[in-house]
Amino acid sequence: MAARNDGVASAERADRAERADRVEKSEAEWREQLSDEQYQVAREAGTERAFSGKYWDCKDGGNYHCVCCDAPLFQSGAKYDSGTGWPSFFEPLDSDAVVTKSDVSMGVERVEVRCARCDAHLGHVFPDGPAPTGQRYCMNSASLNLETEGENDS
Ligand SMILES: [Zn+2]
Repeated sequence: MAARNDGVASAERADRAERADRVEKSEAEWREQLSDEQYQVAREAGTERAFSGKYWDCKDGGNYHCVCCDAPLFQSGAKYDSGTGWPSFFEPLDSDAVVTKSDVSMGVERVEVRCARCDAHLGHVFPDGPAPTGQRYCMNSASLNLETEGENDS
């Protein structure tokens, strides 16, 4: 019986550990690292109020990293003014940087976007974005940390 249980556990682990650099922390560790708002959005799938975040109107050049694990997720070149009050991008930095999953929590079906490395909630993606992808990655500022160009050369 023990062997059978181990088999199930291993299968679950293999499922979750698709990335070698995956970051997993306890709730307490995330709470320690993040502000209350960052925790609520990134770890509890909250949404910041429109026009309240620090990046919706930001036009600085650089890469937007995950606020939890620092994985690079979006670049400023793919950011555009969607008029929604949330930072919006037409594509992620790399197709492997984020994962998507169906979210029916608000009574409508939406596609949730999470950090592929640490599972942080980032926002949602909608099929009403601009060319060239037609996608609108509607993100929360609270889940992102902009590293402006030149700041990260060490
Ligand atoms: Zn992350």
